[in-house]
Amino acid sequence: MTRHSLNRPQTVAIIGGGPAAGTLAILLIRAGFRVALWHKPKAATLIVGESLVPALIPILRQLGIEDEVRKYSVLKPGATFNLAPDLSFSFFFEALHGLPRYAYNVPREKFDATLLAAARKAGAAVFESPAQLTAEAHTDRVALTPETLAATNGYFSGQPDWIVDATGRFRLLPNLLGLSSQEGKRKDTALFAHVDHAHLDHEGHVHTTRMDRGWSWRIPLPGRVSLGMVVPSEHLPQWGATPEDQYDGLCQHDSQLRRVAGHSRRLTPVMKYTSYQLVSERMFGANWALVGDTAGFVDPVFSSGLFLGMNGAFLLARALAKGSPEALQQYERESRHHLQTWQNIVEYWYNGRLFTCFKVGQKRRDTLLVKLIFPHMNKHMGRVFAGAASHSAYSIGLLRFAMKYGLEDENPEDLKVR
Ligand SMILES: Cc1cc2nc3c(=O)[nH]c(=O)nc-3n(C[C@H](O)[C@H](O)[C@H](O)COP(=O)(O)OP(=O)(O)OC[C@H]3O[C@@H](n4cnc5c(N)ncnc54)[C@H](O)[C@@H]3O)c2cc1C
Repeated sequence: MTRHSLNRPQTVAIIGGGPAAGTLAILLIRAGFRVALWHKPKAATLIVGESLVPALIPILRQLGIEDEVRKYSVLKPGATFNLAPDLSFSFFFEALHGLPRYAYNVPREKFDATLLAAARKAGAAVFESPAQLTAEAHTDRVALTPETLAATNGYFSGQPDWIVDATGRFRLLPNLLGLSSQEGKRKDTALFAHVDHAHLDHEGHVHTTRMDRGWSWRIPLPGRVSLGMVVPSEHLPQWGATPEDQYDGLCQHDSQLRRVAGHSRRLTPVMKYTSYQLVSERMFGANWALVGDTAGFVDPVFSSGLFLGMNGAFLLARALAKGSPEALQQYERESRHHLQTWQNIVEYWYNGRLFTCFKVGQKRRDTLLVKLIFPHMNKHMGRVFAGAASHSAYSIGLLRFAMKYGLEDENPEDLKVR
């Protein structure tokens, strides 16, 4: 018997019912673990995170859920960025290194339900109730509370070998252990609702609009559009006291948003989110691990959240199957690398450099140099928007080079997100 198989845990408790939890449950069952998952249904009427990237499609296929997801989703062939009234860029996903040429915009409650049903079907025990944890004194270990364990009705005869926190922004285990985390610099607030319609340049595209202050998204869903905005928190009170007043006020008065959503009718209450970047300083301990948003998240401008969370579940499943501290260290290293890479790209969006570079390419498109370089550059930027950037050192290297040397005499401040 190898050292790995001797150390291999047999039982895993996963806390959380979102995409990271469901993915991990399916993979661990396939790897031979006994898995229980606790899912506290979300209280909110809407769940944020509705636009997927092409890099997620191979993951949906591996989980065996793509056909189901396609039935209730909108096909997403690309992404459009409206920077100013006369400046927009649209990217159509290209088939690059095996990536599909599309993704989906998904009603999230259906998507999460599909994953949970697949986890159940695979053989995980799913409990539709909140789980609670306690910290073991003087150790780095956590345990299910007696009530949570009892609720399994004997599915687990004792404490599980591993407890995985996938509670998203609730961060059950980090809060219990007082784990620290690194937060981002921006203090923005997102307001988000569904509306009956909004202007779209391209069917199915996720549209990102640079607003007078902040930015907004439009995600076409079946029969409606998800319309959200991310703005500096101090900019909101001028539009009213409630999230609804602030949301409606911005739709009517922001000069960019008014053009594309001024006539939209809101169909739902408005959800409010704060905090845009957070990375846990530890992602595993003696008998626990963190996955998905609980481990870390970045600003959502490039729709990377579900990909990061579900890809993270693949990395964690591999580490738990190996069962060694080295494997868990590798999980943490890779997760940090992906988060950091995305964070760097997000910063190029906010400081205006990303689209200044495209503007230069557009203005000089008749010059030989741009004719030679731009198609190549566009192809690799396609990889960035398709979600594969954090796996491609070459695309990222090219992006860094372009951000440093490709702006010519243009001032990135002009396209900065304020
Ligand atoms: C404004 C905004 C826009 C975004 N847009 C996108 C986008 O377009 N595309 C994209 O890919 N990502 C987007 N994201 C990110 C995306 O929403 C998250 O990355 C993703 O939902 C994380 O998945 P998760 O499984 O880690 O956590 P979650 O989806 O948050 O799931 C955690 C689950 O755990 C449950 N839970 C909590 N406590 C307990 C407990 N004690 N017991 C049992 N269950 C519990 C919760 O109810 C919840 O269902 C966006 C995020 C924000 C804030």
